[in-house]
Order: sequence, then structure tokens, then C-alpha cells
Amino acid sequence: MSQHILTAVAWPYANGPRHIGHVSGFGVPSDIFSRYQRMVGNKVLMVSGTDEHGTPIQVQADKEGLTARQLADRYNRVIAEDLQALGLSYDLFTRTTTDNHYAVVQEVFKGLHANGYVFPKTTMGAISPSTGRTLPDRYIEGTCPICGYDGARGDQCDNCGNQLDPIQLINPVSRINGEKPVFVETEHFMLDLPAFAEVLGTWLQSKQGDWRPNVLKFALNLLGDLQPRAITRDLDWGVPIPLDGWSDQANKRLYVWFDAVIGYLSASIEWARRSGDPDAWRQWWQNPDARGYYFMGKDNIVFHAEIWPALLLGYNGQGARNGTPGALGALDLPSEVVSSEFLTMEGRKFSSSRQVVIYVRDFLARYDADALRYYIAVAGPENQDTDFTWSEFLNRNNGELVAAWGNLVNRSISMAAKNFGAIPEAGDLTDADRAMLERSRAAFPRVGAELGRSRFKNATNEAFDVIREANKYLAEQEPWKIKDDPERVKSILHVALQVVDDAKTLLTPILPSSSNKIYEMLGGTGVWSGMPEIREVEENGRPYPIITGSYDGQARWEHTPIRPGVPLAPPTRLFTKLDPKIVDEELARLG
Ligand SMILES: [Zn+2]
Repeated sequence: MSQHILTAVAWPYANGPRHIGHVSGFGVPSDIFSRYQRMVGNKVLMVSGTDEHGTPIQVQADKEGLTARQLADRYNRVIAEDLQALGLSYDLFTRTTTDNHYAVVQEVFKGLHANGYVFPKTTMGAISPSTGRTLPDRYIEGTCPICGYDGARGDQCDNCGNQLDPIQLINPVSRINGEKPVFVETEHFMLDLPAFAEVLGTWLQSKQGDWRPNVLKFALNLLGDLQPRAITRDLDWGVPIPLDGWSDQANKRLYVWFDAVIGYLSASIEWARRSGDPDAWRQWWQNPDARGYYFMGKDNIVFHAEIWPALLLGYNGQGARNGTPGALGALDLPSEVVSSEFLTMEGRKFSSSRQVVIYVRDFLARYDADALRYYIAVAGPENQDTDFTWSEFLNRNNGELVAAWGNLVNRSISMAAKNFGAIPEAGDLTDADRAMLERSRAAFPRVGAELGRSRFKNATNEAFDVIREANKYLAEQEPWKIKDDPERVKSILHVALQVVDDAKTLLTPILPSSSNKIYEMLGGTGVWSGMPEIREVEENGRPYPIITGSYDGQARWEHTPIRPGVPLAPPTRLFTKLDPKIVDEELARLG
């Protein structure tokens, strides 16, 4: 039965270009999952966008001499283009600075407020004595009261990792002009997280055996210490607070984390509007049979396994204070939070400032998208922190993509093209032929089960076992040595081409571009697996790109018999063999 599957992909932050560590955490895994779900016939809605509010955007804009909005415009475009080039099949990739997003965020706030899950509280906030303007937490620096580190920021200490309030800092100074801030009373809204402790606990316990154990353990641990959390702050870059007496205060905005997680919902609503059926989003959000999968790096577990479910429960009126659903109606909680661990680069943490980094754009300027997707699928940080090395990238590309898979495709098709000019008919099959065909067909349920549970390493290895088996089969049958029995050569090549066709289907979620090429080589017509496109849209006179696409291709998760007689041309190149000297060249680029 066809199911509605929401693929909710973490929102990349628009303060700079994204590197391969980012896309290995949220981007490629969510796309492999979505492509597989579409192939088995499910109705997928894959949404995300750039996260564009908050102090880091403001800080980076100041550095580059731009307004926050100009900076967000710049990196929204860079990030959208990069994710599209990587082949990520978003139904909608939008941004958090749209009118629709503002309206949905404000609606969720109003629902929480009406049910009593947000409340105002007076706290101490910093202002600059020379300008009278409020100083955001991150603009204040001082000595950490916990570990004594003298470069702690007002929101957290990077040395000991503790969350801080600026007023706790010893000798606080403004990072803008070095003056000492003054602390004055300021009023903010708090989210009453303790009111969700019990219902969150029950909900998380029901996920035992279903979620990745690292994610569930982390989320359950957080439950022990739920505190009210500020959801507004003194900053002029963000979504205004939709209440009388608050909405017109230029320096009070909803916190960036609060607005960003609501993006999954606002993007679904925007997608529905663009699709021509404004209520279509409800099939993924208000449907007991729908499933919602959230993809992110592990630094975001707290927002997806704790805070976002709490916001939904509060909006639905399902916390300790009860209540009634807001105007949108009750909304579904995540079915699964799929979190990746961290990727490091040649043994070090990614760092743009220290140039321990390769941005997606630079990677794709030198290497194929499928080569990066393959590396992330087979060697990414799926369930433990993982190191990216250029030598491993080279070895996997040359040894697995080029020598094992590319070679199988190339020699099967070129031999059949040269000898017969078309896909040959099989004659009498030997036991070895039948065993090979059976091995290939049997991979569909096995690889599919792994993909459906986001176990991409196992899936890739299972698919490659078929490829290795087929290379062995060809080496044993040696069709190139048979001179006097063309019927036997036809049977062997028929079996080989059938396995190539099966394997390209098995690898379509991971390697969509090369699978599309193989589909065409074997005589397929129409689109096999749809690729994303950039579309220019406009709002309030601001043009910007969205990623969208039509993904109803021919690709189905099943063995399809190849058709004898289909003309074959010599194959085109699928993967690029890399010169080993790229390892030294890339290492020399690192700081
Ligand atoms: Zn500290």
C-alpha cells in the first residue's frame, strides 16, 4: 500500500557555503532514503530550505559589509545551487525569510501561547551604553565563570561547552567596540519544556528498537533536565512576536532555532500552495498512516527529538496543561529522527577559518556528484564519527566505482554491442547462469530493507556484492575466449546485461546520474530517476532560487527483464578514474 512519507531535511545555515561534512550529515542520506521510498511507490514529500535568521548571520554580514538580508540572499543562492548539483531531490527547498514562513511561525507561537505553554519572564539583558542598542549574547565576550577560559561568549563557552547567560561572564566586554555592557531588565517569552517531560518520555520510549540507538539514548538522557527555554531575544533580525505590544518592538524577535524547526511545516504548506492544492500538505501532517523522517547531524538531535516534538505537542494541546489544537489543526509528531554522527577531514575537525575544509562547490568542480554520494553512502558517518581522507576517496572511486561497477557495465555492453549490435537473446541456461540471475534478483528485498531503515552502508555493500559476483561470473565464463559457439556467448552476455540492469536499479537511490545513463544505454525511454532543478521565483520584488523537480520517473524497485533486440551502442563513460596525484594536490590545499 502506498504511504505518505515526509522527508524533513535539516536546514543548512546561510552564513556561508556548506562543506562535505554538512551534506554527509543531512543531504545525501535524506536523498537516498527519499529516492528509495519513491521507487517502492510511496508518496514522498521532501522539504527543507536555508535557515537565515539569528546572530551568526548578523555577525557574518557585519564582517562582509552587508546587511543580514543581503548576506542571506547570497548564501541562499550558493547553497541551493550546490544541493541541486549534488542531485538532492527536494520537492521544495525554500528559505526562512518568506512571508509564508513568517505566518506559519507566528501561528505556531499563537497556538502555544493560547494553550499556556509559553509565558513571559523578566531577565537581565545587555545593552551598549554608547548606542543604547541591545547587545546579543554572542556579541559579548568574557571569562567563563565555570572553567576560567577568557574567550567565552555570552551564549556559551567554547572551551568547556557550557551554556551561559551573558550576565554570568566575568569582565564582559562588547565584541563590537570593546566597551563594558550594562545589564537592564528585559522581558522574554519562555517555552515551558518541563510541561512536556512526561508525554515526551512516553513518546520516546515507544521508539525503542525503531530508532538508531545513539539517537534514542541521547534524547532520553536530555529528558532528565528539561528547563524552560527562551524563545525570544533582543535582536532585530528575525520573525516578530505576534502579540499586541510586542509585534512592533524592533528589537524583540523569535529565536532563530524556534523559527527554523517550524520550517518543515511552513515548507510543506508552501509546497502545497505551489502545487495548486493548498491543503495537500495535510496528507503528510494530519494522517495517521503517514510517516515523518527527520535527517540531521547529531548536534541537532535536541531540536528534533525534544524541542520540535514539544512545540507540536503544545500546539496540539497535548502537554501537561492540555489545551486545544491551533487553527491548522493537530499536527503529527516525527516518526523517526535519523541522525548522523560527525565527519572529520584528514583526522581534524572541519574548520572554515583554518581551511580544514572542502566546500561542496569546489568538490563538484573537480569530481562527479555520484563519486561523492557513493563515498558518503559507503563510508559516511552513519553510526560513528568517520574520517574523510583523500586516499580513501581515491581508492573507493578507482577500485569500486571504476574498476568494479564501471568495468562490469562497460565490458558487458561493449562486448554485446560489438558482437551482436543489440541485447542478445538467452539460449539454454546453465546452472551458473541461473545462480547468477537468482543472486541478482534476490538482492532487491535485501538491499531495500536496508535502505528503508537508512542503513546505507549495508545497502551499498549488498549491491556491490552482486557486482563483484557478476565480475567473477564473467571471469569464469570467459565469453571473450569462445570462438565457435555464438549462442553460448549470447546467453552469457544476456545474463551479464540483466545483472547490470538489476544493479543499476539497486544503485539508483545512491547513484542517480550514472543509473540514468545506464538506463538509456540499455534502451530505456523517458526519465528513469528524476533530477532536481533550480527555479527562479520572486516575493516582494526579491528574486530567489528554489529547488524543486518532477520525480515521477520510470524507476521502480523491482527486477525488470531486459528486452532482447534493443540496439546497443558502445557505452559512454560512467565514472572518472582519478590520478593518484590528486591526493597530494588536495592535501596541499588544506590549511
Ligand atoms: Zn568554560
